[in-house]
Amino acid sequence: MDPIQMVDLKGQYLNIKEEIDTAIQQVIDSSAFINGPQVRELKSELSKYQSCKHTIPCANGTDALQIALMALDLQPGDEVIVPDFTFIATAEVIALLKLKPVFVDVDRDTFLLDLQKVRESVTNKTKAIIPVHLYGQCVDMHELMNLATERNIYVIEDNAQAFGADILFNGEWKKSGTVGHIGCTSFFPSKNLGCYGDGGAIFTNDNKLGEKLASIANHGAKVKYYHDDIGVNSRLDTIQAAILKVKLNKIDEYNQARQKAAQVYDEVLAECKSIIIPRRVEFSTHVFHQYTLKVQERDKLKDYLNEKSIPAMIYYPVGMHNQHAYKTSGEFQNSDYLCNAVISLPMHTELTFEQQLYIANTVKEFYKK
Ligand SMILES: *Cc1c(COP(=O)(O)O)cnc(C)c1O
Repeated sequence: MDPIQMVDLKGQYLNIKEEIDTAIQQVIDSSAFINGPQVRELKSELSKYQSCKHTIPCANGTDALQIALMALDLQPGDEVIVPDFTFIATAEVIALLKLKPVFVDVDRDTFLLDLQKVRESVTNKTKAIIPVHLYGQCVDMHELMNLATERNIYVIEDNAQAFGADILFNGEWKKSGTVGHIGCTSFFPSKNLGCYGDGGAIFTNDNKLGEKLASIANHGAKVKYYHDDIGVNSRLDTIQAAILKVKLNKIDEYNQARQKAAQVYDEVLAECKSIIIPRRVEFSTHVFHQYTLKVQERDKLKDYLNEKSIPAMIYYPVGMHNQHAYKTSGEFQNSDYLCNAVISLPMHTELTFEQQLYIANTVKEFYKK
């Protein structure tokens, strides 16, 4: 059996090497490194895949979130609701723009924003909510959009971990990242749709927002050297766009490979009393960016797996309210619990059935000792 990796970018590359090498070489041959034709092509292919009107490629997922917030014309001190249990980028961009991040606890079973608590946290200053589709499964967007519409609040989906998932909205399945007013994603190499460096994209069905987002990502200019907005320089390199064009064609296949691995883990671990396998919800599909268990004796399990040459990771060990830079008082029972209970097993497109079984059986074995 080959050594097990948390994410196997090299193995995935080797399986599509010819297509990728050709795509990269074409960009170098044309030397259109910035805003080359592949960027425009990717833009329209992403819009088609997402069934959404506007796609704005940008430099990374954090920029996507920042540009999304910048497009909403918020005032300093306006409140933006985010889950307490997430990657830091979601909170960081809010604070950077002198807005106030309001952390809300998550649901213990789904790891996702607790919508009842969101409702209780809304004030007259709440201008936006950023649901994070954590680990590859989406927040109940039907219910969240109802609340947001009622209270006139913008919703920005942080879809960095769930690209390709489907959301049940108004009785119809929609692509993740296209239900909120704006959707953001990251093409960081280890994400479900990843490039070979940094990359990101913003999605919207709103024409006005689409125009504004594109302008902000491009120094606030629609026409070169004429600046209507205060913007940033956030571009997706042509080489990254060329790579993403190849990988976008395979994203459903890649997500299915993740789902298959998750199925194997589920089947082996379902009966184990010291483990809670990830809960699947009915309002979203799950594309398993991470396969995350809640377990007893988490740190000992991690050491045990490492001894058996199985990498495992803790996403995330500290909630937002406990981060030194964002220290906030309040009750975050579920987030606190999850920080001590979660462990993510290796999850990528190249895991063999043999590796999946070995990983799951080793986890099980730990609790039988
Ligand atoms: C990866 C990630 C981001 C940031 O993406 P970058 O491309 O690394 O800037 C934002 N939010 C979540 C939930 C992520 O997982």
